[in-house]
Amino acid sequence: MSRARGDIDRARLRRLLAAERERFSALHPTSRRLFEEARGSLLAGVPMSWMAKWAGGHPIYAAEAHGATIRDVDGIEYVDLCLGDTGAMAGHSPAATVAAVARRYGEEGGAALMLPTSDAASVGAQLHRRFGRELWSFTLSATDANRFAIRLCRQLTGRPKILVFNWCYHGSVDEAFITLGEEGPRARDGNVGPPVDPAVTTRLCEWGDIEGLRAELAAGDVACLLTEPALTNIGIVLPAAGFLEEVRAATREAGTLLIIDETHTASAGPGGCTAAWGLEPDVVTLGKWLGGGIPIGAYGVGRDLAERIEADPEADYVDTGGVGGTLAGNALSLAAARATLEEVLTAEAFSRMERLCTRFAEGCERVISAQGLPWSVVQLGARAEYMFTSPAPRSGAQSAAASDGELEDYLHLRLLNEGVLLTPFHNMALMCPATTEADVDRHTEAFGGAVEELLEG
Ligand code: PMP
Repeated sequence: MSRARGDIDRARLRRLLAAERERFSALHPTSRRLFEEARGSLLAGVPMSWMAKWAGGHPIYAAEAHGATIRDVDGIEYVDLCLGDTGAMAGHSPAATVAAVARRYGEEGGAALMLPTSDAASVGAQLHRRFGRELWSFTLSATDANRFAIRLCRQLTGRPKILVFNWCYHGSVDEAFITLGEEGPRARDGNVGPPVDPAVTTRLCEWGDIEGLRAELAAGDVACLLTEPALTNIGIVLPAAGFLEEVRAATREAGTLLIIDETHTASAGPGGCTAAWGLEPDVVTLGKWLGGGIPIGAYGVGRDLAERIEADPEADYVDTGGVGGTLAGNALSLAAARATLEEVLTAEAFSRMERLCTRFAEGCERVISAQGLPWSVVQLGARAEYMFTSPAPRSGAQSAAASDGELEDYLHLRLLNEGVLLTPFHNMALMCPATTEADVDRHTEAFGGAVEELLEG
């Protein structure tokens, strides 16, 4: 049996979604009460606006989280495949990171010291071994790592613009909220209070379009290309063979620096795609997972670039030059990052996570092919995602065209009601060192049940 994309009965889908909403409501009285109460003191009832994204109408409230498991305030346990949208790729509260945080903040004492501790250089050295860039600096988030990297690139090249791929996401970086509309580049829908139209600051082209990229670079005004090595924020879109090599060659020829954002794609292995695929970025940016959930981001550059940065008499890097943050590089974040890198997200852990993720992807593929659905599964190391189109998309625009908010909501909520959490954004599942085969199989079973019920009749 094989089905076409339009074969899903939308009325049935809506009925099932409504039934899952009711089930969610019955299962979560305490979360709902806490959410209602929070409306009195929190904007939109949540600590950060995106936490309102969960498909049940309000988030569940977490009581405890260990490894790959979360228990909510209504006493329900979940297999967590969301893992803080990568912030918990090390698992929740891994023992080594807990010990390092307790030691730094408790026994040794101090987080906001405005002084370095010896953990910092160890983290820099670890990141050098993994990502190949020699010299590192720390922020509190991946967003800031990207913002500062862009500033460095503008400063070094004296050029005003950056270049990104359509449907990229790099955090709340003003320059990157741009998309290709029918009449050319325009701000992404919903862009909140942009300082200037991003078309002024940014050029863009479609992922995979090397000619388009060369055309944009030809103007000679692009300081840097900021990209993930595979798009991960519009589903996972892998690069075609040779594309990233062509990107590197084109940026080099144009005198444009290349920033590779490994915040999500670090799922590919200890040194992310940079190491796994032999990439040669000028700058690597990171965040989320690095501190085992304790806030930290980082950017790393090669020695040649570092020399140019340090020799620049024009830029103020030590006071109010626009690259900084009082708590950036704080001692607690670095203690957490050191332990996470040295003891938790090791090469062995990544091998195991990748094997589990392959089991996850194969389970999803079995369900999809048994039902004859025109869907696909894309895996990037420890991370995988199902897409409502087949073959898997080759560009951000293709992937965006295949997204289906209602279908996503149904699957997410149904899985949540069955005790499995995916990220509330698209269909991402991530493995951590504590994930088990049983966790993966639980998802496969719940996914199979959700799809079967959707297609019945
Ligand atoms: N880079 C990428 C590729 C991301 O996906 C994100 C967030 N999803 C960020 C940067 C920003 O991370 P943060 O919000 O933690 O700053």
